[in-house]
Amino acid sequence: MKLIDLHVHSTASDGSYRPGEVVRLAGEANLAAIALTDHDTIDGLPEAIRAGGEAGVEVIPGVEISARFPGGSMHILGYFIDYTNGLLDERLAVLKAARAERNPRIIAKLNALGIKITMEQVVRVSGGGQVGRPHIARALMEAGYVRDLQEAFDLYLRNGAPGHVAKFRFPPEEAIAMIREAKGIPVLSHPFTLGLGSAFALKNLLQDLKRVGLAGIEVYYGEHAPEQQALYLKLARELNLLITGGSDFHGMNKPEVTLGRIPCQRNLTYHLVEALKEWRRQEYGS
Ligand SMILES: [Zn+2]
Ligand SMILES: [Zn+2]
Repeated sequence: MKLIDLHVHSTASDGSYRPGEVVRLAGEANLAAIALTDHDTIDGLPEAIRAGGEAGVEVIPGVEISARFPGGSMHILGYFIDYTNGLLDERLAVLKAARAERNPRIIAKLNALGIKITMEQVVRVSGGGQVGRPHIARALMEAGYVRDLQEAFDLYLRNGAPGHVAKFRFPPEEAIAMIREAKGIPVLSHPFTLGLGSAFALKNLLQDLKRVGLAGIEVYYGEHAPEQQALYLKLARELNLLITGGSDFHGMNKPEVTLGRIPCQRNLTYHLVEALKEWRRQEYGS
């Protein structure tokens, strides 16, 4: 049985292992194929693809784009993207720039409220990794403006608070279009994070997304309860959507998840990859 994992992160986004290391781990775990699907970036793909040749693991070039979805969190996976054509990279650069601007904008808002903290202080408490709101919260605490991190979020940083700056996200149809522009296969990630109340709402959403180019749904996922998995499978069949699955491996940054391991692992076999490839042949002719 050829086992696979179609949802994997590296240091190119918020995983703890380098792309090449992830691929070597996949080889050690005897996985036949993995998809590297870093958040909003394809920077890790060249290294992963190179490592795949050495480790004997098929590396599917992927991405996971966060899309705008009020009330929940929507991620869209892209599989078999042509990461060399530059188009997707150009579009993702918009997100990168927005991320880089967000912290200074939050700090500027706080400064305007009379709070004297600086980007340098925030970078110092971050210890040198990715910098975000938790570090701003810590800087606020260390400077004595709040008693704890929760208070920092409640008073200043949460959605609706005076220091809040919304994250930039592409609307779903644009995220899907970006993936298709790069000849990729757009798949809705872990549908439970959308926070939809009913199967009916999910079906409607899937129909809308399919109309704008969605090709599949992530059915097999560690956090899907059996009844959720059954629903997603049923909807995939009803709506003629591709089925994917994976661990959402983040290395040490999500230590409870093991590469290639989810409760319904027996479903994660190479036939899912074959279906993706067949879809791609029919859609793009290659
Ligand atoms: Zn995700
Ligand atoms: Zn993910």
